Amino acid sequence: MTFQARHLLGIEHLSQSDIRAVLDLAESYVDLNRRTVKKTDALAGMTQINMFFENSTRTQSSFELAGKRLGADVLNMAMQNSSVKKGETLIDTALTLNAMHPDLLVVRHPNSGAVDLLAQKVECAVLNAGDGRHEHPTQALLDALTIRREKGRIQRLTVAICGDIAHSRVARSNMLLLGKMENRVRLVGPPTLMPPGVDQLGVEVCDDMRTGLQDADVVMMLRLQKERMDGGFIPSEREYFHRYGLDAEKLAFAKPDAIVMHPGPMNRGVEIDGTIADDINRSVIQEQVEMGVAVRMACMDLLARNLRRERGRALSDGDYV
Ligand code: ASP
Repeated sequence: MTFQARHLLGIEHLSQSDIRAVLDLAESYVDLNRRTVKKTDALAGMTQINMFFENSTRTQSSFELAGKRLGADVLNMAMQNSSVKKGETLIDTALTLNAMHPDLLVVRHPNSGAVDLLAQKVECAVLNAGDGRHEHPTQALLDALTIRREKGRIQRLTVAICGDIAHSRVARSNMLLLGKMENRVRLVGPPTLMPPGVDQLGVEVCDDMRTGLQDADVVMMLRLQKERMDGGFIPSEREYFHRYGLDAEKLAFAKPDAIVMHPGPMNRGVEIDGTIADDINRSVIQEQVEMGVAVRMACMDLLARNLRRERGRALSDGDYV
């Protein structure tokens, strides 16, 4: 049986067949999302609470749309106005919400491990929407769906993940997923932006874009995560763009049909040249956003099925089995 988990906390806990189950179900939601009527009842009667302790544009709106399209009642907690500001601990906030019987809790938190901790205290399904520099599982899953649709497979590809690897949960989750699916992963960036122990990760490491992009099928660019930096990691943004920013000259080292990805938010002229980001023949950045809604629908649908099963209620699979 695939995808038996109670929570979605990280790619770390998923098997190859779990990943395939999410991607296959998400495909049907891509179709649904392109229709005029985008509703199904997979989460009908269920309550979804979104708790974002860190800023978000794409992830929060896409989880909200995903829940609404699945028929859930969705509550967005405005964390900047919450009791957290009055000193309430994360666990007390979680217990308070737990008492209101939510079914799905979507959590983003600046501290690595905070979402796992919260999941131990509540009775509902918890989805990690990004915790510190630890994991961002739905981002890696939506990237995998985008790659699979573009390349026709999610194995045996060479994927260059470039830029600020050290501070990126997106890089970490993608590394785990792409490794599990038997791809060749190359981390490309300055040594100052590589995580400690990078040599033990089982991936190739490269500090030169030309070598790093050589024959890549996928070029995944990352934002410089200044909010997680507490010192000078690069000489200047101008110098960084010159050496590591993706432009046409560097992209020419990848395969002629290589796709360009970026999780957003994007800093044009820092990690990526605006013309590359907007090139509809190479960039799949908007497709990533579209896949985000479908993947989040699939993850919440699968978790809701497990929850119903666990609670011993009759399973109603709806139209999207
Ligand atoms: N949106 C992604 C994240 O939340 C990437 C980024 O912020 O650069 O991790």
